[in-house]
Amino acid sequence: MSTRLAPTITQDTAFFWEGLKTDQLLIQRCEGCGSLRHPPRPMCPQCKSLSWSAIEATGRGTVISYVIPRHPPMPFFDDGYIVALVELDEGVRLVTNLIDISAEDASMGLRVVVRFERFDNDLVLPLFAPENIR
Ligand SMILES: [Zn+2]
Repeated sequence: MSTRLAPTITQDTAFFWEGLKTDQLLIQRCEGCGSLRHPPRPMCPQCKSLSWSAIEATGRGTVISYVIPRHPPMPFFDDGYIVALVELDEGVRLVTNLIDISAEDASMGLRVVVRFERFDNDLVLPLFAPENIR
């Protein structure tokens, strides 16, 4: 697979990107009220606590919505790539790509599982494939 643009890694998001390198999908958990949040950010939107830890997600979820961008063509993606909003079983949502599935077979409600995809610039991204083909 081709190289992807590397994400901007900050003090607040480093744990997430480091976890992916060891095949862990980590989700921020508020130490004040226990709520989970993603993407990572310094303060809990529920209780305003700045204290947090991380839990490892199961990596299983459901496609909430998806799009197949056509224009403009993106240099890092083959034509027909799928951008999806996946809700993890833990309840948080991620924007990701679906893999190992054709655009025709993608659907809302599809059960998916994470795949830790490695790119040639030392980047690991959590992409999702249909649960039943693993
Ligand atoms: Zn909280």
